[in-house]
Amino acid sequence: MIETQLSDQLNDHMTEVPRNFDVIVLGGGIVGITAAIEAGRAGYRTAIVAGEFGGRYLSEAIPAGFYHENARFIRHAMRYRGHTGIVVGKVSLDMHRLILEKEEVMNQEAAKLRKQIEDAGVYFFSGAGRPLPNGMIDVKEEDGNLVRLTWKRLIVATGMKAQKRETLKHYTEVVEDDGIYRFNQIPEEMTILGDGVRACEVASLFQTLGSHVSIVTDSSSVLKHLDAQIVGRLEEQMKRRGTKIFLKMRPVDIYKDSLKMTHIELASADAFAASEKAGGHPKTEHTVISSTIYVPTLYKGNMSGLSPLRLDIDDGFVVTDSFYRTSLKNVYAVGSVTGQCQMAYEGRMQAKTLIENLVAEDQGRPRQMLDVYQMPHFIHTFPEVASVGLTTQEASIEHEDIRVGLAPLGDEPGSLFASNKQGFVKVIVDGKYREILGVHIIGENACEFIAQVQALMIMEGTTMDLSRIVHPIPSLSLALEEAFDQIEQ
Ligand SMILES: Cc1cc2nc3c(=O)[nH]c(=O)nc-3n(C[C@H](O)[C@H](O)[C@H](O)COP(=O)(O)OP(=O)(O)OC[C@H]3O[C@@H](n4cnc5c(N)ncnc54)[C@H](O)[C@@H]3O)c2cc1C
Repeated sequence: MIETQLSDQLNDHMTEVPRNFDVIVLGGGIVGITAAIEAGRAGYRTAIVAGEFGGRYLSEAIPAGFYHENARFIRHAMRYRGHTGIVVGKVSLDMHRLILEKEEVMNQEAAKLRKQIEDAGVYFFSGAGRPLPNGMIDVKEEDGNLVRLTWKRLIVATGMKAQKRETLKHYTEVVEDDGIYRFNQIPEEMTILGDGVRACEVASLFQTLGSHVSIVTDSSSVLKHLDAQIVGRLEEQMKRRGTKIFLKMRPVDIYKDSLKMTHIELASADAFAASEKAGGHPKTEHTVISSTIYVPTLYKGNMSGLSPLRLDIDDGFVVTDSFYRTSLKNVYAVGSVTGQCQMAYEGRMQAKTLIENLVAEDQGRPRQMLDVYQMPHFIHTFPEVASVGLTTQEASIEHEDIRVGLAPLGDEPGSLFASNKQGFVKVIVDGKYREILGVHIIGENACEFIAQVQALMIMEGTTMDLSRIVHPIPSLSLALEEAFDQIEQ
């Protein structure tokens, strides 16, 4: 009902709602919304068919960002307790107020997106869409009404669907992505079974909010595909802040004691391998006691309503080429349904690139491809991590001669003048042409100042170009200049 009202509200400004469109976007997550807004702005007669408005962006990413931001305030307050002549009283959390503010932020973001859709002249249909290969789509609106629309181009942005987990499903203390930002109180202990961006972000957040946090993973590091030096420093800093990290370990058994505390017994991956060969169970090497267990959700593409299109699917995701074209003519797919991006910022870029290319195609201009190596990665941990381009390992394989510059960066809020800086900026350039190949940052505000490097990399910039950028004195971003300077010394 609420969604139908939303649809009426969004189409209110239109005198008559048409049925035939140049572009129809299926899926109302951030990626679909971005594609629809861009298509509308480009002058296409556009409609968006949306199930849950805002998708995981509004329900997960915004709450995640909201809690991260508030945890930063807490870190600031804690840091200044007894330091630098600033006196701060006891820091405590008002969870009730925090939750109300989180909901307010989610509502504000939803209203902003609705306004952008309206301003772009996009027609909004709220309900489940079922596209047909002949340029039609049936929409079952919230009130049961069935509407048939036509499209010249269809953009599939139906997002991802959580996979059911067979193991651990009987444990009430296990939460996944959809529950982790809906807590009413901070758990005493939080154990994370898994690794990756989400695992690290959740660990950092709950550590700051006061939980005793443990990470258990059978991998050899908490993050893959990032520069090894950065990952090593992140693990070091997370441990320094109190997180226990168990690498190459897996649970042997999980049970509750008479006081209803959950015990997670762990053995090494090697012990598992040996016991598999010999038969039997590996011996417990560590036991972690926890009130809450978080397991990052496994996802596949959301195929609801897509079966009539008979698109090529690989391992549960819609297959596209580098221009987001699916196996069906005039049908495109972007965002997490393609399995090519996990984050909202990546999906939004795909959506923008797709619409730019549709316009280019219609105007007879060449299309552009999104260079995945120039896509930055942001990890909202304490300290923050941001990176763009090649890692040292990748650069040394692809380039004969590379130069690496390092400069220290504070890793706590307000650590501009800290004498002992635990974060750093690492830059990698081609030895001969001085082209910027990769930049990796761990420290305060890392996510904020990586964008200037990405801008240079898009323009195939060199260290010379970077040296022309003015960084304020004092500022955190000055560390970037220092790291590049080191290469020329
Ligand atoms: C816990 C968590 C934290 C995150 N934090 C961040 C972060 O800090 N930064 C970041 O950039 N990203 C973050 N992400 C990732 C981000 O949320 C996703 O990358 C992004 O939401 C994907 O957008 P999407 O539009 O592709 O898919 P979705 O958000 O899944 O949206 C798809 C939409 O399509 C609709 N739909 C599906 N089928 C149909 C149909 N047949 N008819 C009509 N509608 C349909 C669905 O109802 C849904 O609304 C986080 C994700 C999680 C789970």
